[in-house]
Amino acid sequence: MVSGMIFDIKHFAVHDGPGIRTTVFLKGCPLRCLWCHNPESMSPHPQILFTPRRCIACGHCFEACPEKAHELVNDVHVIHRERCTACGACVEGCYAGAIEMAGRVVTVEEVMEEVLKDRAFYENSRGGVTLSGGEPLAQPEFSLELLRSAKNHGLHTIIDTSGHAPWEQIERILPYTDLILYDLKHMDSKRHKALTGVPNELILDNLRRITETGHPIWIRIPLIPDQNDDDENIHALGNYLSTIKNVERVDILRYHRLAESKYGQTGLEYRLRGMEPPTKEEAEAKRRILLKYGLSNVTVK
Ligand code: SF4
Ligand code: SF4
Repeated sequence: MVSGMIFDIKHFAVHDGPGIRTTVFLKGCPLRCLWCHNPESMSPHPQILFTPRRCIACGHCFEACPEKAHELVNDVHVIHRERCTACGACVEGCYAGAIEMAGRVVTVEEVMEEVLKDRAFYENSRGGVTLSGGEPLAQPEFSLELLRSAKNHGLHTIIDTSGHAPWEQIERILPYTDLILYDLKHMDSKRHKALTGVPNELILDNLRRITETGHPIWIRIPLIPDQNDDDENIHALGNYLSTIKNVERVDILRYHRLAESKYGQTGLEYRLRGMEPPTKEEAEAKRRILLKYGLSNVTVK
């Protein structure tokens, strides 16, 4: 029985491909994008999320933690995350919901049981199941079996990927994947590495190989102010995409700040704090640049 680590299953998702979808979020990602809107997805391990405003100071977690990871320092609730073994003891007794666990091991069968509850919605909307994350290809066996099982149930399948994975893993999932949502962030490899932690050669190489198979692809470009939204990069993206076949659509995803609070919950630093999202007009201007390269289906989200 193949199992893997997920941190969420979202029902009735409408932004993760066509129709109404169920999106399974897998944990673990090889990238460290500055703007990541799912910081709890980065680590491949389970971790606790702490929301101080919900804490009623009942003291349970201080007593329950065998590792003494919770401590009151000058009346501030401090979590020593390096001590945490993710045993879950503090989560169980926190009736205020201030501590949650992000990450659980599930089998393919358990995920499919959840996914199939929404089957009627897929049929009416031409939706299906989407694997997202994190990076689904960071758990290649689990993703492969999820997609295979979904296809066996007659569902439309999507994988939402950064493309940063060995080609052999991508090749294996293609027969069970109807559509690929593929992120492109920066055409300059050094800049790509500065923004995401990895260079872009593997990602571009995999994209070209996928398109050579004829598989349909939707490209997703996160538009991040002062990071990748300069005209030079948008022109380079347009120029590159004009040479790629089978791109059905290009979505410009406007940066938003909804994830800021999640960084606090995970104990991670949010390095883009305070940055303003691009306006719709600014995003439209970038869209017009892409249209100059003959890309017909470009949207702003
Ligand atoms: S168990 Fe929850 S509510 Fe109680 S002190 Fe800990 S975090 Fe706060
Ligand atoms: S999950 Fe376990 S080890 Fe981690 S802080 Fe809670 S009680 Fe302590």
